Amino acid sequence: MAAFPDFRLGNVLATSFTATLTERAGDPVERIPTPQRLTDWFVAVSLPVHACTTDDLARAVALREAIHRSATAAASDEILPRRAVRLINASSARGRAAAALTPERERRWLLSQDTPVGDALGVIAADAVALLSGERAGRWALCASPTCRAAFFDTSRSRSRRWCEMNTCGNKEKKARFTAAHSASVRL
Ligand SMILES: [Zn+2]
Repeated sequence: MAAFPDFRLGNVLATSFTATLTERAGDPVERIPTPQRLTDWFVAVSLPVHACTTDDLARAVALREAIHRSATAAASDEILPRRAVRLINASSARGRAAAALTPERERRWLLSQDTPVGDALGVIAADAVALLSGERAGRWALCASPTCRAAFFDTSRSRSRRWCEMNTCGNKEKKARFTAAHSASVRL
């Protein structure tokens, strides 16, 4: 069995989704290259989808890129691209997922039997609408890693996060800085 790249899951659904394609400004890494990996991703973010088709994957990637383009514009304080906004809205309108509460105070998404993938994409699109419309407290920013440049939603108290993810892009930059500092001291 071929090994596929791991998912990068944060606690923001819409950007966990856009992070299924990483290193966008370098050597891009596609983390949902097959319908099965898209299914796996849905399960990983607690959207109960059991199977995806090639068409589903194409629809998911189109929505992902629309969110990515819009988030990148938001991080640069630009008007959002109209086509991308239309696609996000259409995905949101198609979704028929229902939010359900458990006694343990957790939210579960209930998807319809006929269109579970469309419903799951609707949940993601609605999350993007909430984030991009400023409904949730936070700030859009672009990752400081030159090979990444992913748009991420900063909810830190100081709103001064520099990387899309500390464990990957942040550490990479720290390591690069350490290596540079180390080789400089060796030269001395
Ligand atoms: Zn990054």
